[in-house]
Amino acid sequence: MKKILAIATGGTIASESSETGLTPQISLEDFLHYVPQIEQICDLYAVQIMNLDSTNLQPSDWLNIAEKICSEYENYDGFVVLHGTDTMSFTAAALSYLIQNSPKPIVLTGAQKPIDQDITDARSNVIQSILYACDDHASEVSIVFNGEVIAGTRSRKQRTKSFNAFTSVDFPHKAVIRDNRIIHYIEPEITESMRCFHELNQRVFVLKLIPGLKADILDYLKNQYDAVVIEGFGVGGIPNTEELHFQEKISELLDAGKLVVVTTQVPLEGSDMNIYEVGKQFRQDKRIVEAYNMTLEAIVTKLMWLLARTEVLEERQKLFYQPVNFDLYI
Ligand code: ASP
Repeated sequence: MKKILAIATGGTIASESSETGLTPQISLEDFLHYVPQIEQICDLYAVQIMNLDSTNLQPSDWLNIAEKICSEYENYDGFVVLHGTDTMSFTAAALSYLIQNSPKPIVLTGAQKPIDQDITDARSNVIQSILYACDDHASEVSIVFNGEVIAGTRSRKQRTKSFNAFTSVDFPHKAVIRDNRIIHYIEPEITESMRCFHELNQRVFVLKLIPGLKADILDYLKNQYDAVVIEGFGVGGIPNTEELHFQEKISELLDAGKLVVVTTQVPLEGSDMNIYEVGKQFRQDKRIVEAYNMTLEAIVTKLMWLLARTEVLEERQKLFYQPVNFDLYI
């Protein structure tokens, strides 16, 4: 039997009702009693490293989860992280950068309803995650949820209430799980050795454009952040009218050595800044980085990872464009 380590971090999956609202409080022992079938699937070991609503998770918590997996890596065949759904896509993307080229599967799962309720997705999500973590063809970081396996950098929480909470953005599922059978669509080819990273730089800001927004806010961001992600319109449009000052203020950001990444606020199909004048005019400055079809969760966590790796702008740009766990295809 394969040896799997479950790492509990909290979330609805481990929550109980209280006067102050649902909060994570089921003990790991009680939790595992709800899924006795696991005994037939693997040798399960479990640790609780935090017990948080994922809304409260910080980048330092991503580092702690990664640290736990890396330090136990040789002792287990696969890992299942039990996690709140609200920020699971961020954690899955962060783990994809912190633990690269993992031949062993690292799975995140959670639930929309607590495991102690009659109608819940928690039990099936846990069992399917364990099945996937035990599979010989599984590798790298993934989310397993509602019978779907999504690459760690491609997921987004798309629904706040339904069991099919997650979607794989502009990318096929890695696999689906039907009647406990795993049907693989994509098997990552791992050609380099596995690597763990131990640092993140949180100085990343996301600016969502709205009509009429002036670029003056970038003066403030220039002093506070090392990278600014601009969520433009359509295929990556940024207003180029004189009175909003975007060209001037973005140039100042770049002159100050900051990384400027342009993405789109449209949920699907990514950017292509060269189509319209309102994109092309900005993209002509080769210091601007375009995120194409990356998810916002992947952009933000990749920036935190690469800012901590090097101070050199060209190297930062190069790292941004190097694909990791299916995050980017051009
Ligand atoms: N607020 C919860 C969390 O993210 C929601 C969930 O787990 O579904 O921790």
